[in-house]
Amino acid sequence: MFVDEVNLEIHAGDGGDGCLAFKREKYIPMGGPFGGNGGKGASIIFKVDLGLRTLLDLKYNKIIKGKKGENGQGKNQNGKSQDNVYIKVPQGTIIKDLDTGIIIADLTKEDQEVVVARGGRGGRGNTAFKTQYNPAPNFSENGEPGEVRYIKVELKMLADVGLVGFPSVGKSTIISKISKAKPKIADYHFTTLSPNLGVCKDKKNRSFTVADLPGLIEGASKGLGLGDKFLKHIERTKLIAHVIDMGNTENRDPIKDFEIINNELKSYSEKLYNKPQVIVANKMDMPNALENLEKFKKKYNLKVIEISALTNQGLDNLLIELGNYLENIKEEPLISEDIQEDHILYEFKKEDKFDIFKENENTWVVRGKEIEKLFKMANFQTDEGIKRFIKRLTKMGLNEKLESLGANDNDKVKILDYEFDYKK
Ligand code: GDP
Ligand code: MG
Repeated sequence: MFVDEVNLEIHAGDGGDGCLAFKREKYIPMGGPFGGNGGKGASIIFKVDLGLRTLLDLKYNKIIKGKKGENGQGKNQNGKSQDNVYIKVPQGTIIKDLDTGIIIADLTKEDQEVVVARGGRGGRGNTAFKTQYNPAPNFSENGEPGEVRYIKVELKMLADVGLVGFPSVGKSTIISKISKAKPKIADYHFTTLSPNLGVCKDKKNRSFTVADLPGLIEGASKGLGLGDKFLKHIERTKLIAHVIDMGNTENRDPIKDFEIINNELKSYSEKLYNKPQVIVANKMDMPNALENLEKFKKKYNLKVIEISALTNQGLDNLLIELGNYLENIKEEPLISEDIQEDHILYEFKKEDKFDIFKENENTWVVRGKEIEKLFKMANFQTDEGIKRFIKRLTKMGLNEKLESLGANDNDKVKILDYEFDYKK
């Protein structure tokens, strides 16, 4: 099994800030509250796209950010909410939270989606705080911070195209030239022969995986036991690309080679032999290659894709041809039921409000999502805003907790960039 993986940093958009404003009317110095609410920040949502086969697109964009909601304005105008950001991933993608190692999502179904980081809600403007008792509130709220997550995106893959051919026909060279990424190869403990795998993209932006299957011929002819897993894997390869050394650099007969490999395929597995096969004539840069190709075509009357992995000739076309073939082969999606692993799906619980660490004799450091959020959303511009903030901080139980830990008057308390004195 191949595991393609990429680590990403995901920042959902913060909510827009609420506005603090008052009506200005002739002869009335300060009318009623007039500040609108901020808009919601963009959430980051991962969604299955059946057209995708690999995680290649994610590798070029390792930090994904959602936009902040627009701020509220005077005249009670609410800020606009941002559209959510959709990240398309192939079926079978698993998303893990890197901080906890927990699986956030196991995306197995068509169009299935999961919110990986939630955008912050908009902060409320002062109009929203108007009550019978406080008809003209002189404070507003900043937007809620968007969630930030560090995730690992994983895709277990089978190769779409399996390269077969005699040793030294150029399989490894081809993969190294046409692929842009090398996924990790796992689970091959049953054989010392490990396949080469590359993730490729053709000029039509179709991506797929190509594996060299060294175990097949080289291993089989050496009489090595390759194990059921390997066999199952190569049997699920959708397309066989049969590579022939047309330059016969090793002094072998390309026609004979072709027959021997096909016979080996057949004796190895009927299923494999019956896979769609494309013929790739490599080493077309060699002086005798054209002549060999003519002979080959005369004998077989099959379509042959001509390339030279050495000089890159024909490689773009090879990718297009492979992409075309794959497009017409029915999908056998690889989903977690096939993989048979236990997945614990996890809904994020509300985090603890805060934790307190003693930094030294009279300094306390407070950390925690909830309490940090309270700070970020507070607007300290006005006395009333500060009072409201202190009230909420007290309600959260910070003072009691500090007291129970033995904090003394005038000890320092640090939260984020803020620092203040503790008073009993
Ligand atoms: P593999 O055993 O099928 O993986 O073959 P390799 O990729 O290791 O290639 C075997 C040898 O053939 C190497 O020396 C390559 O440099 C050479 N080779 C690969 N492709 C070409 C080609 O298009 N033209 C020529 N002249 N040599 C090639
Ligand atoms: Mg090789």
